[in-house]
Amino acid sequence: MTDDELIAAARRNIEHSYAPFSKFRTGAVVVGTDGSLIHGTIVENVSLGLAMCAERVAMFNAVVGGTRPVTLALAAPDTDGGLTWPCGACLQVALELGGDELRIVVGDDDSGPTSDATVGELLPRGPHVEL
Ligand code: ZN
Repeated sequence: MTDDELIAAARRNIEHSYAPFSKFRTGAVVVGTDGSLIHGTIVENVSLGLAMCAERVAMFNAVVGGTRPVTLALAAPDTDGGLTWPCGACLQVALELGGDELRIVVGDDDSGPTSDATVGELLPRGPHVEL
């Protein structure tokens, strides 16, 4: 899939967002090592600490499906006038499940341009594990 197709799929997952508190509706998809496309959306809770980002929902679902993420695409509203990138917790999960070369593609929630980077570029000194 192209980056535009990945972001389009992530944008469709915004429709399923459960973000009644922040109203920050996001969607994500993961391409697994087996080529499968795995979906995620933000899921909040009245106990705010229990909220889960769309990216981690998708990555955890990849594990459930017996695969690991190769590419992660996030569609989210712009923040600070620019594209929104995954938070530190999501980058840490991405690093552990996909390694430094896991590719992240981001786009807004409408039809704007996309950007991409690797986890290693975004979290260059993140803790690495050897399992
Ligand atoms: Zn996150």
